[in-house]
Amino acid sequence: MQGENASLTPEPGHLYVVATPIGNLADLSQRALSILEKVDCIACEDTRNTGLLISRIFEEKRPLIAYHDHNEKKIASPLVDRIESGESIALVSDAGTPAISDPGFRLVRECRKRGIPVVPVPGACAFTTLLSASGLPSSSVLFVGFLPPKSAARKRFLEENKELKHTIALYESCHRIEKFLKEIVEILGPEREICIGRELTKKFETILTGPSSEVNAKLSNSSKKGEFVVLIAPIDFKL
Ligand code: SAM
Repeated sequence: MQGENASLTPEPGHLYVVATPIGNLADLSQRALSILEKVDCIACEDTRNTGLLISRIFEEKRPLIAYHDHNEKKIASPLVDRIESGESIALVSDAGTPAISDPGFRLVRECRKRGIPVVPVPGACAFTTLLSASGLPSSSVLFVGFLPPKSAARKRFLEENKELKHTIALYESCHRIEKFLKEIVEILGPEREICIGRELTKKFETILTGPSSEVNAKLSNSSKKGEFVVLIAPIDFKL
């Protein structure tokens, strides 16, 4: 096991995959703070967002480099060259855990290919945050990230997974959440247990659970603004 001080100080030639809060700044871990303060460079999805986070937690600026969906193919290899030459680099995304429905996979993969140590610095992740407070079965979960935006493809997904014996976890946009809940009621039935989490860890955090028809009705009476996670119970779930 690493000693406490060692784990708080980045080592040369390492990539640190650092989770950041999904809303509540106080959720940033002590270890994440220390790594972000001390690494040579922070690779981030959006330099403005991470710049804002840095300005809230440190007095001084930190060196940032953009690493996002549109440049990751191009930039992953030169970033790994820098790590190979002895730099320590932290990878962060706009919120939550990098590489979970966020950029990061290529960089991590390239490091692993070249034998570079990749160190996870865990923290918030939107779907595990909701899962832990949902009361739905959590021992076996299928996480699918974002479903395709087209209604036909989402309906097909629900049809194909109608009888799944695992909880399904997914991310949905505020523009589609109402429609998606209606599709759940229609395809999985009004009795299927679901849970939706809106604005988790933030001021207007809302968690709605129950049969899909009830959650659907509750949602139509509450705000649809913000970010959403959806959990769908397995077909055979009964309390
Ligand atoms: N890497 C992130 C993680 O670890 O959860 C996920 C990034 S993904 C691009 C962003 C999506 O996660 C949002 O559209 C929303 O569905 C979900 N999400 C992020 N923060 C959230 C929050 N505070 N409350 C509810 N859902 C959230």
